This record gives sequence, structure tokens and C-alpha cells, in this order.
Amino acid sequence: MTQTADPGATYRARLNETLPRVRERMADAARAAGRSVDEVRLVAVTKSHPLAAVEAALDAGLVDLGENRVGELEEKATAVGEGSVRWHMIGHLQRRKAPRVVGLAHLVHSVDSPRLAERLSRVAVEAEAEVDVLAQVNTSGEDSKGGFDMDNALEAIHEAAELPGLRVQGLMTMAPFVDDEAVLSRTFAGLRETLERLRAATDRMGPELSMGMTNDLEVAIREGSTMVRIGTALFGERS
Ligand SMILES: *Cc1c(COP(=O)(O)O)cnc(C)c1O
Repeated sequence: MTQTADPGATYRARLNETLPRVRERMADAARAAGRSVDEVRLVAVTKSHPLAAVEAALDAGLVDLGENRVGELEEKATAVGEGSVRWHMIGHLQRRKAPRVVGLAHLVHSVDSPRLAERLSRVAVEAEAEVDVLAQVNTSGEDSKGGFDMDNALEAIHEAAELPGLRVQGLMTMAPFVDDEAVLSRTFAGLRETLERLRAATDRMGPELSMGMTNDLEVAIREGSTMVRIGTALFGERS
């Protein structure tokens, strides 16, 4: 067997098959929950895939693309140029790299500490810009996952939401990697309830819930997700 030499053709062919299936999963889940699928944005996670994946995604009409490393985000953004792409930064962001995402990322999903929130706020104020972010919450308590601790999430995120230059549009979480639907449901419902409390406490908190990945998007949509971040189901396994 010879492999096709055109990675663009490979990714386009793959998305032809996978994108309708992902959209169908989203629509079925929304319908089952009595929600409109239009309330749930699909963020296509191109991290670790080559530029060809980004180009194929744009050809397929996807506009929200997710990356987890600043360098890779910059490279891909430069390569495709200004256009209709909305870049989502979904990975841990080091404070010293904060200036590089302001003006580049449409939304930073991974504001995971008060210190990062403060740094982004300062950078935004200096640039006379506003930066749209989500506060990432560590709902599982696992050390391997980043985010504000559940214990003091309400207080700490409320403070972050009051910072100048920062528009906290909502919350993001990564569920534990399990198949147990009850655990996933509880995790996502917990994030939704945290957001409801924050929104009752401050009008500077937006309505977005970024939750749901390849393995758990149905449960996330049932529990109120407004953005799912899908990599593997669209682009295949990452190397
Ligand atoms: C990689 C990644 C995703 C995509 O995960 P898949 O299981 O491939 O869909 C979503 N969110 C975050 C934060 C990620 O790092």
C-alpha cells in the first residue's frame, strides 16, 4: 500500500466522514435534552495535527479552532493569515506568554489561576484591549488537571471577573477520563451550578460552559454545555 502524499486530501477525506457524524452526535444529544443544537458551538481541536488539518477544517466550514500551545497557535495563525478563523487557546498558558495570546486568541479557555488572570488583565490594560477568557475549574480534583480548585472557585473566579481588561465569558472544565456516566454528569452539573452561582453574584460573568470532548460530548450537552472541544473524533488519533 502506498500512502497518499497529499496530507490535505487525507484530512479532507477524513472530515467528510467524521464531521457529519460529530454534528449528528451533537444534534442527537441536544434533541434528547430538549435543547437546540445551535446553542452548542463546535470547537475543532487541531492541536498536534499539521497545517493541512487546519486548512481542511476551514474548507469544511469550521471556524472555531482549538490549540493548546502558544507557539503552535502562532505558527498556524500566521500560515492561514487573517480571515474567518476564531482561535481558541485551550491549553495551560504560562504567565510569561500571556502577551502573545492577547489579540491572537478569540477566547482563552484555560485561565487556571488567579495569577494568570491578573497577568492577562495587566497585559490587556496596557494594550488598551479586552481579552475574552473562561475560567478553568478543576472539577475532578486530579493533580494532573489544571484549574481553579473547586473549594474556593466561587471566590477566586469572582475576583478574576472583576479585573479590568478581562471579560470572563464563563467556565471550562475537563472531566476525569472515565466511562462512568454518573461521574461525568456530576462533574458537568457541578460546573453548571458553579456558573449559576457566579452569575447570581456578579454581572461580569458570562454564560458560556466549555465542556465536552470526544468521549463525553453527549453528557456535557445534556448538562448544559455551550461549547464542545473535539479533536480525535474529527481528525483521528494524535501522534
Ligand atoms: C486535546 C484537548 C481536547 C480534545 O480532546 P479529544 O478527546 O481529542 O476530543 C479538548 N480539550 C482540551 C483542553 C484538550 O487539551
